[in-house]
Amino acid sequence: MYLHELETLDRESLRHLQTARLSELVARLKSVDSEYWVEKMSGVNEVASIDGINSLPFTNKQEFRNAYPYGMLTVPMGDIVRIHASSGTSGKPTIVSYTRDDIVVFAQVNARSLSAVGATRDDVVHVAYGYGLFTGGLGLHYGVEELGATAVPASGGNPGFQVSLMADTGATVALILAERAEEMGIKDQIRLSWGIHGAEPWSDGLRDKLESAWGGQYDACDIYGLSEVTGPGVAAECRENKGGLHVFEDHFFPEIVDPETGEPTPDGELGELVITTLTREAQPVLRYRTRDITRFLDGECPCGRTSRRIGRLAGRADDMLVIRGINVYPRTIETVLMADPALGANYAIIVDRRGTLPELEARVEVIDASFNDEADEIASRLQDQLMETIRLRVGVIVGPPGSIPRSELGKAQRVFEQTSDEDPLG
Ligand SMILES: [Zn+2]
Repeated sequence: MYLHELETLDRESLRHLQTARLSELVARLKSVDSEYWVEKMSGVNEVASIDGINSLPFTNKQEFRNAYPYGMLTVPMGDIVRIHASSGTSGKPTIVSYTRDDIVVFAQVNARSLSAVGATRDDVVHVAYGYGLFTGGLGLHYGVEELGATAVPASGGNPGFQVSLMADTGATVALILAERAEEMGIKDQIRLSWGIHGAEPWSDGLRDKLESAWGGQYDACDIYGLSEVTGPGVAAECRENKGGLHVFEDHFFPEIVDPETGEPTPDGELGELVITTLTREAQPVLRYRTRDITRFLDGECPCGRTSRRIGRLAGRADDMLVIRGINVYPRTIETVLMADPALGANYAIIVDRRGTLPELEARVEVIDASFNDEADEIASRLQDQLMETIRLRVGVIVGPPGSIPRSELGKAQRVFEQTSDEDPLG
């Protein structure tokens, strides 16, 4: 563990630390003389405890666009030592700024993430994340150096060259997007022990594939972060207990709320992750609505870290469907469908809105014709599993291979609305 004392702090002491940091932050933000902060903090009272965090206003991504480029700063421009930006798919990019101390914290949380995966100062770490405005490359790079390991700033591109470089440098850890790692395949001369894969959500199925493809001892772990709250290193999986990520709560306070109402979800239930940066100097954020869907996984962790864990991402709030008062995330349905060995990768979810109450239907296809005769059994077991998982009846229609229409271009559309008798899949 990179910061042993801090990472194993008892919960009570951690709450004291969070309370002290939040009170200090709120007091400071109330005195910032800028249009954004005066408006944001008007009517906000000082907070006496971290439990009072839900009296603070939320922050959303649109505010970053409106305040572009420097409207959310709380320090003079002279204190800024770096900026990063994320390209928006729509509208202006968002810019995030860092002071020298922000960069130190950014490096530390990444060192802690690397350490959680098992990296030590003796490792050679191949960083294949993109360097540049994107926070991934530089964020992890500084983390590697902070840990005292050896950073190889390989950046992206040219898989063949990346693989030979890993072999020549004796890389033991790779930081690569999971999909890219799969493309790069295995080379016998590489002795990777650990890998961190993040930036885009990836499945447990892909983890199994990577871990077996890169040799039996390879641990593939997930990392979470987003530029609006700093970059990678907000949370990371430990290799002792994969399936959830420790949030570095002394810097990033997590809440999980209902995406529609903003009210906290009961512990253990899916909702939108909200993060408050407790220590950022240049551009702190209060209760940032990440739009990422996850849940708290409470309980002790065998690695000894005491920070709360969140589940791997279960979707985006924007994809949420409300069916008969229940929040349903298409990715939850996908996970159930894709775990069935008889099914191929294509599926469609249909929200039938013809009646007074909406109905859900999942259309899937068997992976090869040898399963054609089992369609009824497959449909019935999937219905049972979906009922158990999302507590809703989902009609399942199992077709022969190739029966779900393929998308022509780009990302496949998976969710269709049915409002007339016309089949939404055509
Ligand atoms: Zn752990």
